[in-house]
Amino acid sequence: MSYKILLMGPQGSGKGTQAEKLSERLGIPAFGMGQLLRDEIASGSDLGLKFSGILKAGELVSDEDAAEMLKRRLAKSDTQNGYILDGYPRNMSQYEAFNFDIPTHVLVIDVPRAESLKRLGGRLTCRGCGKVASIHDGLKVGDLCPCGSAWYQREDDTPEAITRRLEIYEHDTMPVVENYGKLVAHVDGLGSIEEVFARLLTALE
Ligand SMILES: [Zn+2]
Repeated sequence: MSYKILLMGPQGSGKGTQAEKLSERLGIPAFGMGQLLRDEIASGSDLGLKFSGILKAGELVSDEDAAEMLKRRLAKSDTQNGYILDGYPRNMSQYEAFNFDIPTHVLVIDVPRAESLKRLGGRLTCRGCGKVASIHDGLKVGDLCPCGSAWYQREDDTPEAITRRLEIYEHDTMPVVENYGKLVAHVDGLGSIEEVFARLLTALE
């Protein structure tokens, strides 16, 4: 059985964590486009050099180039039993560019907007090492990370910025989910990491 999983969900749905857990359980790699982009640049490939130039110029990588990067990644031998793609395609333009492979499952972690706001609104980032924590862990702005630097709240973690991103998700990504039709399984994203993970595994059966 080969699993080609697209894992979708709004920010704060915990899909990055779940992608890693699925990867471990199923023995297939998990990746997001941001990570692939960094890897491609670090590799010094023709595409990586192109991306490096585009980003240095403050421009955006085109959907076609991003899709080409993904195509190359999916041609590597570690994906022969499948892969987990975290948060792609996130709009219809990317959906159309992703025309070289068909997923077996599209798993959508649903989290109500109020819950996403609560989770993300309490997010703290370390100025030193970039690690992320939460005020729900009993930490506050100015407390020190184990690395010795202070926690702060990023500007894009304000309620307004979070709401805007959640609206973009609903507006741009939900049409993609609809297009995948029967491949889609919605999973309740409320509860513990283990509870959500168990629901994802059930959805794969
Ligand atoms: Zn730190």
